[in-house]
Amino acid sequence: MNLLDNSNQVSGTLMAGSPASNCSNTLVDHVILDLDGTLIDTETLLDEVYAKIVWKYGKKWEWDGIGLIKRLGKRPLEVAASLVEDYELPCTADELLDETLSHVETMWSRAKALPGATRLLKHLRAHKIPIGLASNSPAKNIRSKLAYQPGWLESFKVIVAGDEVKEGKPSPEIYLEAAKLLKARPSSCLVIEDSPTGVNAGKAAGMKVVAVPSIPSKIARALYSGADSVLNSLLDFRPELWGLPPFQDWVGKALPIEPWYLGGPVIKGFGRGSKVLGIPTANLPTAALGSQLSQHVCGIYLGWAGLSNRGVYKMVMSVGWNPFFDNAAKTVEPWLLHDFPDDFYGEELRLIVVGYIRPEANFSSLELLIERIHEDAEIAKAALDLLPFSSYQDDKFLTTPLAKQ
Ligand code: ADP
Ligand code: MG
Repeated sequence: MNLLDNSNQVSGTLMAGSPASNCSNTLVDHVILDLDGTLIDTETLLDEVYAKIVWKYGKKWEWDGIGLIKRLGKRPLEVAASLVEDYELPCTADELLDETLSHVETMWSRAKALPGATRLLKHLRAHKIPIGLASNSPAKNIRSKLAYQPGWLESFKVIVAGDEVKEGKPSPEIYLEAAKLLKARPSSCLVIEDSPTGVNAGKAAGMKVVAVPSIPSKIARALYSGADSVLNSLLDFRPELWGLPPFQDWVGKALPIEPWYLGGPVIKGFGRGSKVLGIPTANLPTAALGSQLSQHVCGIYLGWAGLSNRGVYKMVMSVGWNPFFDNAAKTVEPWLLHDFPDDFYGEELRLIVVGYIRPEANFSSLELLIERIHEDAEIAKAALDLLPFSSYQDDKFLTTPLAKQ
């Protein structure tokens, strides 16, 4: 089970989310955000388009993280140039860019806000913290992307686009321009970025930088070494560490999230849960989880589990990457917080995931991992008695047999 398999996580002190420098140096009163990969997931859409285009030229798109590292945080024409070179495409970078743009312009409505993005914008806005947006994208694209995210456009006091500066990231110019328009000293600005290029731009501008990597975390650590803090996702951002007002929405040690609904027949996993950890986790077929899992960050969650012939139970669940046949697949591993007299392989399991506890982390020993999972279970048990988490217990999704839905 993937609670054990944490080797590919950004980990240790970097995951802790605390600024590397001491407190008196870390106070900021302005926040400047990157857009693509930090606030919205446009990468997934762009990958689809690139795959289609290179296929048209008879080439096969590589869905690995290596290409992504090269593309992240670059300006569109630079990305096109590197794709023409890498895939030996019989067109110019300009032609590829035109073709890409003609496809993507109609796709921005499908770009999803990343977990925690809308929450962060609302929070900063409610506390009157001036927010800037600094994106390597052209102004026109930024407007199109923001148009589909309710409340976002009016959250930004200033927006600086890639075609409004001489040099894109990693030059500090775009961040310095945003600070100038905000009338803020660079040292009082906090940048939040997903790309190494953007992290370097923020640091070169003399700003504090929090990274939320969109690059697979195994290779991410070194690439983000310039950042003051590296987080698993925006859900782990603690504004108070930077002198900003803290979030007030945690309920005990759990963060309410937009609930997600999962279901499927319980299948055999690797059998490691009970044997190695003494913690059984029911596995669902990846196909039954659909594409919705890709929208959720890896980590530990809580929620309700339903078995139609048995009842509804509290559960704590890990979301992460598991080896599945030859591919790595993102899976869920729910531990139902109840003693069952027998296994329930083949039964229909329904889950409503309602809260987030923490990111995945490395543990130096199996004992510490087991201890932490039990602590997570206690957090889940206590939180699920409280609103808003408790209200989902009666949701009929949990117990209605498939055919009657
Ligand atoms: P596997 O790798 O096959 O999932 P585990 O050792 O993780 O094996 O055990 C999980 C199985 O144990 C579940 O599929 C289920 O049938 C059974 N089980 C019994 N009690 C629980 C529980 N409290 N939570 C989850 N699964 C349980
Ligand atoms: Mg299991």
